[in-house]
Amino acid sequence: MTDIPAILEDIAAAMAQETERGRVADYIPELSKVDPSRFGIAVATGDGRVVSAGDAALPFSIQSVSKVFTLSLALGRLGDACWARVGREPSGDPFNSIVQLEADDGIPRNPLINAGAIVVSDILLAERTPEEAVSAILGFVRQAAEDDGIDFDGAVATSESDTGYRNRALAHFMRAAGNLHHDPEETLAVYFRQCAIAMSCEQLAKAGRMFAFAGHTGPGSAELITPARARRVNSLMMTCGHYDGSGEFAFEVGLPGKSGVGGGILAIAPGKASIAVWSPGLNAVGNSRLGTMALELLARKTGWSVFGGM
Ligand code: GLN
Repeated sequence: MTDIPAILEDIAAAMAQETERGRVADYIPELSKVDPSRFGIAVATGDGRVVSAGDAALPFSIQSVSKVFTLSLALGRLGDACWARVGREPSGDPFNSIVQLEADDGIPRNPLINAGAIVVSDILLAERTPEEAVSAILGFVRQAAEDDGIDFDGAVATSESDTGYRNRALAHFMRAAGNLHHDPEETLAVYFRQCAIAMSCEQLAKAGRMFAFAGHTGPGSAELITPARARRVNSLMMTCGHYDGSGEFAFEVGLPGKSGVGGGILAIAPGKASIAVWSPGLNAVGNSRLGTMALELLARKTGWSVFGGM
């Protein structure tokens, strides 16, 4: 039997020794205020347990990790018709890249880069106001985490909107190409607030259980998304969840995962656990430096890599 509590304590102790912690994102001014010495990790298993170590109860800005929850909702609303508006291939480019969009006629490569996630937000906005769409996203995340206290951070959302020129460029280009169905400002009002959702590692690990347990929060519990949808979101996390660091993450960790510039990563060990880590310092491609290292250690110590081996 794998001793998860001891493994997590070991990992947190090892991470506390790390002096090279990466760079905290500062292109969203509000995010630059976060203490780079933070580190948290939580593991939610199918028996309803959540084991954690470090700063796992402190909320952080989940940023792009939100994209897996909005994608799940959009697939529930539109089904396979989503794939006419967004692709399923890794981009090999940074998360906010503009260059591919024009070559691809305004169809983003995948739903986990910014352009693709903005299309997904646009799908969730259909027949709703931005406030209603944001409420639907929050309701889904709260239900998955079994925690009604989860909300978005208004200061982060405002900070992102005030400086979101690249995301506006992406949204306006896609509107011109016919791939946004709403005023870009309305779509971005959803996107910026979903990215500003604040959650702790413990809350995020619980919210991710649907991907680990075929759509359920645990074996025998109610179905939140269909098993097919959970499988598809996992496959996209594996191929596209870390932008142009996705190949390296699959190589070193071997789990479907989604990162955010707030320093959080959600990783899924199918059938076994949902894992959330947080450390605000990022590596060169915008993924949490210590979060990635911690997941490498966890995958090695548990043998959870989907590719087998230790
Ligand atoms: N909200 C961020 C942005 O749009 C999300 C990016 C990320 O987490 N990688 O720039």
